[in-house]
Amino acid sequence: MFFPAKIFIYILTAALLVLRGCNGGGDAQESSHDIPEYVIAIHGGAGTLSRERITEEQEKEYLNKLDEALSAGEEVLKNGGSSIHAVRAAIMIMEDSPLFNAGKGAVFTNQKRVELDASVMDGRTLNAGAIAGVTDIKNPILGAIAVMENSPHVMFAGNGASQFAREQGLEMVDNTYFHTQRRLDDVIRQIEREKNGTVGAVALDREGNLAAGTSTGGMSNKRYGRIGDSPVIGAGNYANNRTCAVSATGHGEYFIRWVVAYDISALMEYREMTLAEAANEVIGKKLVEAGATGGVAAIDRLGNVAMPFNTAGMYRGYIKSTGEKEIAIFAD
Ligand code: ASP
Repeated sequence: MFFPAKIFIYILTAALLVLRGCNGGGDAQESSHDIPEYVIAIHGGAGTLSRERITEEQEKEYLNKLDEALSAGEEVLKNGGSSIHAVRAAIMIMEDSPLFNAGKGAVFTNQKRVELDASVMDGRTLNAGAIAGVTDIKNPILGAIAVMENSPHVMFAGNGASQFAREQGLEMVDNTYFHTQRRLDDVIRQIEREKNGTVGAVALDREGNLAAGTSTGGMSNKRYGRIGDSPVIGAGNYANNRTCAVSATGHGEYFIRWVVAYDISALMEYREMTLAEAANEVIGKKLVEAGATGGVAAIDRLGNVAMPFNTAGMYRGYIKSTGEKEIAIFAD
């Protein structure tokens, strides 16, 4: 069923490359020879992650959890499930884990409570859903998906988001469910650098459809009511079958103003950059010049993956139907 779509993309790509008089820009990954049937890439936040600050045991814990999230997403795609469902499966595992700054284990506001943001986008329809500043939806990504699928709106905030989630039958929890001692210690000590841990996933399914999802507790010690880039479509999350799917992590105030996720897509669409070129231009140049830290997990319509970051590390991984796989934390 998905085969004709892949053939179409193949022919289109070959035609484009001939028209552009090049062989794919010299990037081996951009070759149209082996378009994977499906791909999923995830991140668990970017930041000052260095080998010295993490024990071997902790490193293993993170790698295992990333692997579990990737496998959950892959299982969906392997069985012909949609990219949206794959993104949901991968993100829920990271939201439920206290290791990441999303769902359980999210960072505290300066008022010592947890306020969560999440978003999702369907690259086929350009439908999107987001929730912002919620305190009681157990899995915020489910709230975002419900907004996308079951409401005429794109974003719900605060109490309205909670009411909508309750009406949708989503699992609701007391704010203390999200609390962990580690994050409480961070906010008491006002450790700014412990802000990393936002989670995200991007996927390409067998039908050739892209999707992106992002979920976060935001920045540690943020002011009550502060909303970052993660639930803002185009800033922390974007998907478009014409170009790519992007989930971002980093200093939200910059990612909103630099419209990061959409900018990567726009560079591909209007400047005909490859995914790698576009992602590097934004993360490695524009944001660096602006003094902003962060990274993205991104996939293009041909199944190429780019996961650039301008910090010491980013929890990340991807897996393709071809068996190609990588899970890593540090830059080297
Ligand atoms: N982008 C998130 C925010 O600003 C935080 C992060 O990704 O570390 O809310």
